[in-house]
Amino acid sequence: VRYGPVPATVGAMAALRFPDRTALIDERGSLTYAELERRCAALATALRGRAREGDRIGVLCRNHRGFVETVLAASRLGNDVVLLNTDFSGTQLGEVAEREGVGLLVHDEEFDQVVDDSSYEGRRLHAWRDGRGTYPSLDDLISETVAEPISPGAVSKVIVMTSGTTGTPKGARHDISIGSLLPAALSHLMRVPVRSGEPLVIAPPLFHVLGFAYCSVGLGMGMPLVLFRRFDPEQILRGIEEHRAQTLVAVPVMLQRLLDVPDGPRPSSLEVVVCGGSALHPHLSEAFMDAFGDVVHNVYGATETGWATIATPQDLREAPGTVGRPSFRLTIKILDEDGNELPPGETGEIYTGGGLRFAGYTGGGTKQVRDGLTSTGDLGHFDEAGRMFIDGRADDMIVSGGENVFPGEVEDLLGRHEGVAEVAVTGADDEKFGQRLVAYVVRAPGSQVGEDELKAYVKKNLARYKVPRDVHFVDELPRTSTGKVRAKALKG
Ligand code: ATP
Repeated sequence: VRYGPVPATVGAMAALRFPDRTALIDERGSLTYAELERRCAALATALRGRAREGDRIGVLCRNHRGFVETVLAASRLGNDVVLLNTDFSGTQLGEVAEREGVGLLVHDEEFDQVVDDSSYEGRRLHAWRDGRGTYPSLDDLISETVAEPISPGAVSKVIVMTSGTTGTPKGARHDISIGSLLPAALSHLMRVPVRSGEPLVIAPPLFHVLGFAYCSVGLGMGMPLVLFRRFDPEQILRGIEEHRAQTLVAVPVMLQRLLDVPDGPRPSSLEVVVCGGSALHPHLSEAFMDAFGDVVHNVYGATETGWATIATPQDLREAPGTVGRPSFRLTIKILDEDGNELPPGETGEIYTGGGLRFAGYTGGGTKQVRDGLTSTGDLGHFDEAGRMFIDGRADDMIVSGGENVFPGEVEDLLGRHEGVAEVAVTGADDEKFGQRLVAYVVRAPGSQVGEDELKAYVKKNLARYKVPRDVHFVDELPRTSTGKVRAKALKG
């Protein structure tokens, strides 16, 4: 057992404690903790000859064993891992790989073309192979390598990209060591009743901070991880039933898709749904809990902070829309423009400190820092009971005719309309008002709802200046692979 970086350590410790327990289930079958550990030991030996000391190992994979094995093997070796977004174009991939110093790229065969189109010229391995394969595969390396003892190298870091909602994804460097991960995991477990040994379905991509953090917690706690390469709501529901999964991790748009499955099962084993990554509108958490029981936990955080607040199902029932209370050992302050702390009920910029040990961005970029606390770029407020609410991103706030409008409030209202399946509200330049509200609406199946009806509905329920000036009906909303609406793409 090598007590080094956490990912390797958690795998090794779990293998000692629960060797025969299922560690991972993917579309190829299942592996026990002992098998996973054996495979990672062999892979680490094989990678040693292919990744030079100091090389970073890029991972461009969907959710499957190859992703997990690469991260665990790299951290045994002491090589940093860069988690790459499967939505990257060739150009983005090339830029990020160069910026992050990727010397070995482990990717699924389906991304051959993207990698060929990029400027990346380093060594390549196939993680998941559908066809004949041009590069050696992880399975080949594992089966032909005899594991050798590896003396501990440097402590490896995991570089997780931000979602790129506001531009090109930034690399957030995390010192994933016992010292930084354990308090974060503990604070999570204090609010979220997940149990060792209970299967866990992780639906968001593992390269995103939510999926990756849950993968680490799950392995550390000896939970069987259930992974699917792509998000298919029917498959997820069947997977929960079949494996009697206790926990599901998802982003909000996935909860909507699960609710929309006609006659979808409502698995009785499901006790915990961890939802995060973007705003969980109250209408959605209510509808989901009415259908699946009081299981939803809303987790707020950013790639840089890790989970900053957690709302329990009770919080969500009592105060719909809340993101809950700060995590254990994490400080959150709401500050005005001059840096003064604001009282409950008043909206200001959210600053956090003491979360995951964020070691800065790899490719430039900074966050505003005040008194040792870092800005999240989000605006929010606390209520009298100490529960936090996100009002929106600072740069998403629409100022129309001198009034501030947070798109989220209008989106939540429109999302409750029976004729609306999905909606995004953004601001467009307006000569008279500075900005005007524009709504992009995907109609519910069979609905013929029109612009006038939706405007009248908003006018009836909210202040006049919150009524969208334009309503565009679209077939779907452009989203990132973590389900965030790409506002820029909407604005054209
Ligand atoms: P980039 O920094 O590249 O523009 P990003 O900020 O979307 O991308 P992430 O770190 O993935 O990158 O996302 C963090 C942001 O997502 C938060 O700052 C917040 O705006 C939003 N967010 C995350 N969880 C929640 C939540 N539970 N409720 C509301 N908003 C959330």
